[in-house]
Amino acid sequence: MTGCRSDSFLAGARVLSGSGKVSSRLGVVPMSNSPLSFSKIEQWGWCPRMWYFRYVQRLPEMPSPAAERGKRWHEAVAETVQAMVQGEPAQDVMRRHVALAPDPEEGEEMERALAAFASRWRPSPSSTLFVEEPLELALGGGESLRMRLDLAEVQEEDGLTSVAVTDFKTNWGRFEAAGNRQLLLYSAGARQRWAAGSVEARLWFLRYSRSPCSSFHSSLDLEAEALDWARRQVEEIRGAMDLPEEVGFPATPSNRCDWCSYPVECLALQDEPPELVLLRLEQATERLRTALKARVREEGPIEAAGVVWNFWTYDRWAVKDAGGLEQTLRALDEDPGEYFSVVNKKIRQLTARVPGLGDRLRADGIADKRQEEYFGHRRAEDGV
Ligand code: SF4
Repeated sequence: MTGCRSDSFLAGARVLSGSGKVSSRLGVVPMSNSPLSFSKIEQWGWCPRMWYFRYVQRLPEMPSPAAERGKRWHEAVAETVQAMVQGEPAQDVMRRHVALAPDPEEGEEMERALAAFASRWRPSPSSTLFVEEPLELALGGGESLRMRLDLAEVQEEDGLTSVAVTDFKTNWGRFEAAGNRQLLLYSAGARQRWAAGSVEARLWFLRYSRSPCSSFHSSLDLEAEALDWARRQVEEIRGAMDLPEEVGFPATPSNRCDWCSYPVECLALQDEPPELVLLRLEQATERLRTALKARVREEGPIEAAGVVWNFWTYDRWAVKDAGGLEQTLRALDEDPGEYFSVVNKKIRQLTARVPGLGDRLRADGIADKRQEEYFGHRRAEDGV
């Protein structure tokens, strides 16, 4: 059982599904001392404040098309493996999942990916297969790490147990398996669970039909480093639980803020109602905009995060002969009212000079006051 491909046959392999069904990989752990998952300890390193919103407050996340697609593809490949091992027609399974794809493009991609996988992957005939297998890796000190292996192939030979652990990847990102922390922890989990002497760890990039697999032989030394990291993460998380939120879960801005589901909550102070948060945001934005304008005026265009800030120009027509334009518009069967508008402030100023002017304009059919709606805030003393 070496590398990403086995030349042996399906016969003899058995498949076991840990939970009895293929299921979602991410769950929400209650904030007791129950085991944390790899995702949770990894995300802790991204931003403790985001972690707090997601796992302690359990605020809803923005829908993630990539995560949804990943879930669909994992289910499809898990069932394909099960069908192949049980000698059932994998084509039927594939067709069913392809038909469930939300759009034809994803359906075609999935079909290609599953067909490529089915043509390359072969389990060892004497191995026992575990699909979507849940594990708990003991970290010591009463702590453990919860994980779910996409695929584990366990083989006994001459009294020695070897395991091949495969993690399926469903996006276009591609990287080396060697030294990957998640795989090392999965390898440690597999080693512990099956008392394995040798563990091979693989990443299988489903979107790639050529060289879809990257693998390495895990070692106790490498796994020990990953385990130390996991222990430190868990220790930090447990420690944060005993601290006030602001201290234990600091906001750590980075490029991950771009797709964070909680930018507003992140800015909000505890117990502050949304209207106050919005007001402060508007004020802060206004000040930043003023400062940025001054800088651009002084230093010229500024490029940041793929956009350019500058004073851009656009054309605007100054009407010199309003009567002439009106005639032209009427000749074109256009309503001049759609092209001329005067802000109420100007009419009010004129009415101050000529009392009753506004009413006269309306009565004579020269101008009409329309009410338009906008969302925003006014000072309370100006009335609601
Ligand atoms: S917006 Fe950025 S800093 Fe704030 S919670 Fe999200 S990731 Fe963390």
